[in-house]
Amino acid sequence: MTMVDYRNEPFTDFKQEHNRQAMLTALERVRAQLGRTCPLKINGQEIATDRRSASINPGQLKQVIGYVAQADANLAHQAIAAADAAFRDWQHVDPEVRAGYLFKAAAIIRRRKFEFSAWLVYEVGKNWAEADADVAEAIDFLEFYGREMIRLAGPQPLTPLPGEDNRLTYIPLGVGVVIPPWNFPFAIMAGMTCAALVAGNTVVLKPASTSPIIAARFVELMEEAGLPAGVLNFVPGSGSEIGDLLVDHPRTRFVSFTGSRDVGLRINERIARPAAGQIWMKRLIAEMGGKDGIVVDNSADPAEAADAIVASAFGFQGQKCSAGSRAIIHQDIYEEVLGHIIEKTKQLTVGLPEENYPIGPVIDENAYNKIREYMAIGLSEGRLVAGGEIAEGDGYYLQPTVFADVMPEARIMLEEIFGPVLAVCKADDFKQAIDIFNNTEYGLTGSVFSRNREHLEYARRHMHCGNLYFNRKCTGALVGVHPFGGFNMSGTDSKAGGRDYLLLFTQAKLVSEKW
Ligand code: NAP
Ligand code: MG
Repeated sequence: MTMVDYRNEPFTDFKQEHNRQAMLTALERVRAQLGRTCPLKINGQEIATDRRSASINPGQLKQVIGYVAQADANLAHQAIAAADAAFRDWQHVDPEVRAGYLFKAAAIIRRRKFEFSAWLVYEVGKNWAEADADVAEAIDFLEFYGREMIRLAGPQPLTPLPGEDNRLTYIPLGVGVVIPPWNFPFAIMAGMTCAALVAGNTVVLKPASTSPIIAARFVELMEEAGLPAGVLNFVPGSGSEIGDLLVDHPRTRFVSFTGSRDVGLRINERIARPAAGQIWMKRLIAEMGGKDGIVVDNSADPAEAADAIVASAFGFQGQKCSAGSRAIIHQDIYEEVLGHIIEKTKQLTVGLPEENYPIGPVIDENAYNKIREYMAIGLSEGRLVAGGEIAEGDGYYLQPTVFADVMPEARIMLEEIFGPVLAVCKADDFKQAIDIFNNTEYGLTGSVFSRNREHLEYARRHMHCGNLYFNRKCTGALVGVHPFGGFNMSGTDSKAGGRDYLLLFTQAKLVSEKW
């Protein structure tokens, strides 16, 4: 196979008229396809169910994106059985051939990029640039993991011993249950699934209930790329209803989960208990929540820092695990940075994703209510300086909200809100700012703005988070460039889009032959 070196997929510049037109055309085409029903897919067979669930546009509540069949216990078990049967052959398929399916799928996505972006705009309320970045990241994961598998399949270094031929190979684990979140419903869902597949595992994919349609499009796409039946099975359904069943099943070999802390901990506990007939210890790869933040030193450029704080806090309405929901600012420049933050936040307009407003809706009613509760808590924990209200529209719209003068121990400084709410906190000095940053149970992303080399080096050693950035925002990790994943309650310390990631989906086998 001829293969160019891995490079990140470029983002689309929507200021260029031809791109803008292409996006408008894609939105129109996809609009004509809304409202269809997506079946389950088990062993290559489409399965319709009596029960269906509607996926709606969070920015236009009357618009149904599609209906999706719902797996029950019986169908969930059938999916595991199908994946188990398909594993017998798939595990022995040449790694380069397995990678080929990912490369082909990436090529198809690249050709239909605007169409996939349009689905994201409608289904989860991303604006155009956020949707485009999600699609680009999906392409990146496929291209990156394909190449990584080919690398892992090559000869592995061992210390030579005269008279023996020793070889180490990375073999797959078995059936993986893949449970992605809705916030990067294309990139993370496709990345988790394809990492498992390319390593030789078979998959039962349970999409998030608020983003099943984009997942169904992906499953069709993998079929178009020629993936054999049973290798990827699709079982939409409620996590609280079928999640435990999938996780507990004795033929489940591993669970790859991205989502909230509570669900991650629940899965961690359940996989520890062997089911009757189970002959392995299950593995969990979990990427969970964050309470990320930006530290601003007194040597920083106030306007630059404020730009990054606002972008990190409010991109996709703050619904990123990497969202910078805390700003911790040195007292010397606190007022100046805060002034810029308020000004920039007030410039953000809220409205329909299709019309490409910078701020769209939050994902659903639960999120909407939960975020409003935190806005109320914020009123007692800080000084409201921007937003704080619901916003106009037939959807879950909230104003981007900033609370100033928040104390380090406040709930809005410690708990993941997962919405457009920023807490701003004043620090006496740089070291105290780092202590405040570290004072959460999470450890996903963080940034420091400083022009002081000693302070940057201090932060490099002492800020405890998986992705630490200097003088830039704390969102927007790129596959291959910024391997992504956090510490502590942010997950199992894995790094998606990094060179260690596929190892999590394999086990090493050593064969030694006496010559
Ligand atoms: P969530 O509520 O935990 O849901 C995640 C997935 O788990 C969904 O598919 C959900 O299905 C499923 N699920 C729910 N209950 C389950 C159970 N008992 N057993 C098995 N699966 C179950 O999280 P979310 O609201 O979708 O996503 C937001 C969270 O994800 C935030 O905490 C965010 O920080 C985190 N996140 C982390 C990363 C990272 O890389 N660290 C990346 C993105 C997001 P249903 O939809 O059917 O409930
Ligand atoms: Mg949820």
